[in-house]
Amino acid sequence: MIEKDTNLEDQALNDVIGKIEKGARIATRKASDVALIAVSKTRGADEIRPLLDAGHRIFGENRVQEAMEKWPGLKADYPDVELHMIGQLQSNKAAEAVALFDYIHALDRLSLVKALAKEMQRQDRQIPCFLQVNVGEESQKGGCDIEALPQLLEQAREAGIMVAGLMAIPPGDTNPAPYFALLAKLARDNGLDGLSMGMSGDFEAAIKLGASHIRVGTAL
Ligand SMILES: *Cc1c(COP(=O)(O)O)cnc(C)c1O
Repeated sequence: MIEKDTNLEDQALNDVIGKIEKGARIATRKASDVALIAVSKTRGADEIRPLLDAGHRIFGENRVQEAMEKWPGLKADYPDVELHMIGQLQSNKAAEAVALFDYIHALDRLSLVKALAKEMQRQDRQIPCFLQVNVGEESQKGGCDIEALPQLLEQAREAGIMVAGLMAIPPGDTNPAPYFALLAKLARDNGLDGLSMGMSGDFEAAIKLGASHIRVGTAL
């Protein structure tokens, strides 16, 4: 958590942290068990620095190319940054992703399992991954089918990938809570702890339903 007296303040960050603390209290969870991923996609390095100066260290990006333009420089100044790849990942970007990121959230198919496992081995770098599940069964969205999850989990583990948990983006314009509950159940059924769910508009609901990682962009 942020040490408010030793760091510069960031109002939006403090507001989000306050909501996380409140949501955790209501859910009788510890706020420290919810990691806030500050989604910095589309923001320039000069917009990211205030959050770093305020003490925040966990960030998310959704495009490898964009992240490669911003983060090597920022990481040189703030080496303890933890960087999450939260977007769709193409197999041909696996090498760059493994080199730059500390977590990958959208592992959803065997071809990507193979590409990432190969790179992790080659670079001797283990990147924990979340398996993305298409909880709303939307054809245009990433994520594996609900029924395909046990098999993907087995394939990832066989390839030597450390599976941190599950990730989902519920359908828009509908109550996300049932989808968060479904993802939590799938994680339980498959013996996984991590739950990457909840964005600016719904992270409090996600915390109530067990999110371990929330991905917040516009609210920051
Ligand atoms: C952009 C993005 C977010 C953040 O969304 P906001 O609504 O801006 O908080 C979260 N997850 C993913 C996968 C994203 O691409």
